Amino acid sequence: MIYDLIIVGAGPAGLAAGIYAGRYMLRTLIIEKAQDGGQISQTAEIENYPGLRVDVPESGLTLSDRMTEQVKRFGAERALDEIVSFELQFEVKKLTGLSGKVYEARSVILAMGAHYRSIGCKNEDKFRGMGISFCATCDANFFRGLDVYVAGGGDSAIEEAMYLTKFARKVTVIHRRNELRAAKSIQEKAFANEKLSFIWDSVVDEALGDDVLNGLVIKNVKTGELTTIKADEADGMIGLFGFLGMIPNTERLEGCGIELKDGYIAADESTKTNIDGVFAAGDIRIKALRQVVTAVSDGAVAAFQAEKYLAG
Ligand code: NAP
Repeated sequence: MIYDLIIVGAGPAGLAAGIYAGRYMLRTLIIEKAQDGGQISQTAEIENYPGLRVDVPESGLTLSDRMTEQVKRFGAERALDEIVSFELQFEVKKLTGLSGKVYEARSVILAMGAHYRSIGCKNEDKFRGMGISFCATCDANFFRGLDVYVAGGGDSAIEEAMYLTKFARKVTVIHRRNELRAAKSIQEKAFANEKLSFIWDSVVDEALGDDVLNGLVIKNVKTGELTTIKADEADGMIGLFGFLGMIPNTERLEGCGIELKDGYIAADESTKTNIDGVFAAGDIRIKALRQVVTAVSDGAVAAFQAEKYLAG
């Protein structure tokens, strides 16, 4: 079967594209390799998406679940697969999945998003899931009453650090500069939070422990000085959460003819890429602001452009 449109990725951008494509009556397939929602499926609370209730906290997962329900209502088909090869140059585009299946469509929306950058310290892999985490929503509860460290200084790091203060005894943000990147309004709340403190001009150099994480070596990037932090003896462990920004999921696109810039797809607000019939929506494309609201906007625009392209 040749679809009118294949959407790769079911984060907010892909799901919004699915809703709009359904309303345009395009025969649409959405392919996702894991859980719907992308990054927001791991976000504890979303409070800046317009229209959310102010009296009921909304998690990223509940928001994306509702988007998935909406997509179903508009009839897009679904496939659980990871696209490993993209042939996009011809009128009929061919996408090959890890399953070996080949999917064909006359237009494609690339909405594969981005993923979190690793902390880059020694022993990071050893302690992933044993003290090191990248998802506060998933793991905060394991660190109830313990000391927790957060690497990063952007919106994610500071918002998640504040969320972690609800569980941890104390949360310390380790940031490589002496001022935060996070929005001023977020900073204000963070500086007023008594359970939150900061280690400036520093990065995590090494994770320590036997089975679980029980210490860190912190490096001051200005002086090169190394400081060792150990878990309280009675606790026996600490937590380290990494929120160091994002890396676009464009690895599989290399060599397929799609133009990239700094790793992101070079598409402007029209979502058009350099290849006819191929559009890019959400965090995967170059843009000034990566938010749910801008991702869903991209999804709508990309579906609109795909419909115009198919009609033309
Ligand atoms: P981000 O804004 O790119 O911040 C990444 C942070 O990690 C920065 O503080 C950066 O330091 C630091 N960093 C990067 N590489 C590092 C390394 N190798 N070693 C040490 N530190 C490193 O990423 P984000 O916070 O995930 O946010 C991504 C996007 O989502 C942004 O546009 C953000 O505004 C948006 N967002 C918005 C909200 C909200 O509005 N509620 C919530 C979450 C995310 P430097 O500052 O020195 O570069």
